[in-house]
Amino acid sequence: MIRTRFAPSPTGPLHLGHAFAALTAARLADPGQFLLRIEDIDRSRCRPEWEAAIMDDLRWLGLDWPQPVMRQSDRLPAYRAALDRLADVGLTYPCRCRRADIAAALSAPQEGATGPDGPVYPGTCRGRAMADAGPDDAIRLDVARAFHHLGADGVGFFDQAVMPGYEHRLGADDFLGGIGDVVLARRGIGTSYHLSVVVDDAAQGITLVTRGKDLFDSTYIHALLQSLLGYGRPLYHHHRLIRDAAGKRLAKRDDARAISLYRTQGATPADVAAMVGL
Ligand code: GLU
Repeated sequence: MIRTRFAPSPTGPLHLGHAFAALTAARLADPGQFLLRIEDIDRSRCRPEWEAAIMDDLRWLGLDWPQPVMRQSDRLPAYRAALDRLADVGLTYPCRCRRADIAAALSAPQEGATGPDGPVYPGTCRGRAMADAGPDDAIRLDVARAFHHLGADGVGFFDQAVMPGYEHRLGADDFLGGIGDVVLARRGIGTSYHLSVVVDDAAQGITLVTRGKDLFDSTYIHALLQSLLGYGRPLYHHHRLIRDAAGKRLAKRDDARAISLYRTQGATPADVAAMVGL
């Protein structure tokens, strides 16, 4: 049975891009299960009123999902446990570098590769012991050690929308050079998008991860974490992104394309589906 999910972060109104993602996931789930998960680990940006508004718009679109809804802010102990497992086998280190430190360390002209999370971390804090971790530190994955620990020379995943049947694979060296030592726990947050999403997809028994192509490269990180944590590998469906008239991807701040606005202007759910090409 297919089990997929729509996992919005309640940092703004539901817009056309989300409507497309949610409707796509719900259609792919049929006759399986469509779940909603609220990704609200960043308490400074998420608001309960956005969460309520998102749910209201999704119901208006005709979607329904099982209760209770998983909310990432309730799941910090689960993320902590996963982080501890990686720390216990020596795969993590505390990092005190701020953005400016990283930029300064990367000033050499040959450096400066950019991965899904921005500039590839130069490894300044690599080798610091977890026992020295302070409250202001982030926790990073030591990627070279992680591959060594797995005895693997790369990671991969399958996507049913992007070259179906082909394993998208990234070698250990390319991972290190193009993505680097990813942050598993952000400073003051205790987890990260990557760690939370992997732990939750496994906990919810997700068999098909439906999300936008903007997250395609992050999936290599998720595949590595799934292997390290001994989780199964879900299938992926990275869908196209909805763009505005200028060809720019819609972001949360594009309130002009908020579903609520179309609703007040008299649009029907079918109109919204048609607007995103469904
Ligand atoms: N919470 C993420 C977002 O709103 C989606 C994460 C995912 O689907 O894996 O962009």
